[in-house]
Amino acid sequence: MLVFPHHRNLPVIGMTPYRNITGQLGLIVLLPLLLSLVSIAGADDCHETVMIDSVEYTVTDYWCGQMIDSSAIAKPEHLVKLPQELTFEDYRIYVLPQARDAFVKMAEAARKDSVELIVDSGFRSPAFQRRIINKRLASGDSFDEVLNSVAPPGYSEHHTGRAFDLCPSEARFAFTETYRWLKENASRYGFFETLPEDPNAPLTWESWHWTYRGESDSASVKLSPDSADN
Ligand SMILES: [Zn+2]
Repeated sequence: MLVFPHHRNLPVIGMTPYRNITGQLGLIVLLPLLLSLVSIAGADDCHETVMIDSVEYTVTDYWCGQMIDSSAIAKPEHLVKLPQELTFEDYRIYVLPQARDAFVKMAEAARKDSVELIVDSGFRSPAFQRRIINKRLASGDSFDEVLNSVAPPGYSEHHTGRAFDLCPSEARFAFTETYRWLKENASRYGFFETLPEDPNAPLTWESWHWTYRGESDSASVKLSPDSADN
């Protein structure tokens, strides 16, 4: 432990004699400046980039450090198809087998309570995520704007084969009976809302996005928050 011996020449804030007031004022003026420099340096620490159509983009601070571990990205040969009666307009949607089995069980239980669980997105590859972002860029959004609601390629929970977007995959989902049912029951089947309502969260609240983490809340795989209705 570093101990400063009490020494009469050491200035002590709050006890500074009048003649040192200039130094104290200097500290008061400089401190916020120094702190802001530290935070700028912190933001600059992130140098994670992604390539989209041969253009290199720097990911925004929120996503920095949230890349999905490559071992957690599902391999296509390990994926299975969800029963099409559980998918929107009979989409072919693929997820991990354990996630499918748990979802099918959960959907059966929901149906008994007159609630339909319909999925409109499951596994998505980093390449697919690039296409989603490209579309948004083409529509005129900046890369940073897109990342407020879409994960960069390599950062989406959908790469793991464990994430499900339920219909309707938009803000109004939070006001549906389906959402109320999931809040009450999903954890029993191993599903959790990745981005619950939080007015201070930097990303959009995604009530429709649920992830299979197994039978307990303690996720065995480190998963990043995801964006992602699209
Ligand atoms: Zn999603």
